[in-house]
Amino acid sequence: MEQYDYIIAGGGAAGLHLAVALGRSSLRNARILIIDKDTKQQNDRTWCFWHTANDTPVPKKLLRKSWQVFSVIGEKGELDITLSPYTYSMIRGLDFYAHATEQLQQLPNCRRLVGTIDFIEDGVESATVVVDGTPFHGKYVFDSLIVPGSFSIDTTKYHFLKQHFYGVFVRTRRPVFQPHKAGFFDFRVPQYGVMRFVYTLPSSETEALVEYTLFSADLLPAEEYRQELTGYLHRVLGLEDGDYEVLESEDGVIPMSDYPFPRRGGERILYTGTKGGRVKGSTGFAFHRIARDAAAIVNSLEEHGHPFALSEPAPRYRAFDAMLLQILYRHGELGAPIFEQLFRRNPIDRLLRFLNEQTSLREDIAIMASVPWWPFIRAWLRMHVTGHP
Ligand SMILES: Cc1cc2nc3c(=O)[nH]c(=O)nc-3n(C[C@H](O)[C@H](O)[C@H](O)COP(=O)(O)OP(=O)(O)OC[C@H]3O[C@@H](n4cnc5c(N)ncnc54)[C@H](O)[C@@H]3O)c2cc1C
Repeated sequence: MEQYDYIIAGGGAAGLHLAVALGRSSLRNARILIIDKDTKQQNDRTWCFWHTANDTPVPKKLLRKSWQVFSVIGEKGELDITLSPYTYSMIRGLDFYAHATEQLQQLPNCRRLVGTIDFIEDGVESATVVVDGTPFHGKYVFDSLIVPGSFSIDTTKYHFLKQHFYGVFVRTRRPVFQPHKAGFFDFRVPQYGVMRFVYTLPSSETEALVEYTLFSADLLPAEEYRQELTGYLHRVLGLEDGDYEVLESEDGVIPMSDYPFPRRGGERILYTGTKGGRVKGSTGFAFHRIARDAAAIVNSLEEHGHPFALSEPAPRYRAFDAMLLQILYRHGELGAPIFEQLFRRNPIDRLLRFLNEQTSLREDIAIMASVPWWPFIRAWLRMHVTGHP
């Protein structure tokens, strides 16, 4: 029977952030086991996040590209927003996995295991993780096991939308992109009743990751993402088939929900990452939140000897998320104008802190006053009168 202090079940973003944070703490000599079914040798995703100079979730050398400007293109034309004091940065999944591996190799009692976790069982003194039939015991188990896309929530009680996307890294023969700005929302795509936009991360005038993205309840047939993205490249960017080559592609599904994900899985189990509710319900952003959560977990372990002393954001943020999700679910066509207005009518610093759930009540009222009020009141009434999403 192998015994560990901490077993990290799932070595994706949450598991590796936590392991690296443990390695930097006074707990670096603890016996740590990290288990994942995947070897993490593929660049399976690209993460982006906004951050200030003093609050970067990964070492700066890992940032592939950073932008100081966001562009939002909607009904009222193009809006370029200078992000200062924030920067928007991108990191490749593979670089993050390699960095974590390098850090963890320096820990004296850290083991990584590639295997499929069959189940996790709670106990009084420890929890048991069974991997391909073999049990491992941990004083605490951190569970982030999640298979995106095969994840469900009770939709009679909670909103459950998805941020789903298909993107391509393209290289064009002539300059098309503006590398100093990240194309955050480009709504110049048919909405067909749900919120759809193109998200562009240019690395040069001729290279960019261009993603066709939706915030909606149902996924599309695979071919539709490709058709719509190709339509955008041709119609909006003026490219023809021979004008560009596709270097890589990426797709993903991120849950967007107001479901109150439980943190505790028992006496000895803490849920982390997506499973622990670290994805922001109304935007799908998670990477930076997961990094902050890892720091808070390590702090709790150091100060209390257990990982459960974690604070949650004020409940009003869940209510805001729920109203927006309700609008996106029932009146998806309003998504584009609402997001456009949020960006046009608020200082970016206030808006990004709101999305980070760090604003004052006064600032929240200013944000709510910046968007059309009737859809939000209608959403609130519907949820409170019917009790259903
Ligand atoms: C393609 C994509 C792009 C994203 N981009 C961004 C972004 O730009 N910014 C942002 O903030 N968020 C982004 N997200 C959302 C979020 O940051 C990521 O989903 C993040 O990886 C969530 O971390 P996690 O640890 O919860 O899940 P994961 O990173 O998916 O880790 C879960 C791990 O569990 C493992 N696992 C699952 N089941 C088992 C099992 N039975 N046995 C063993 N191992 C198992 C998986 O192999 C995986 O490694 C993106 C998500 C996707 C899918």
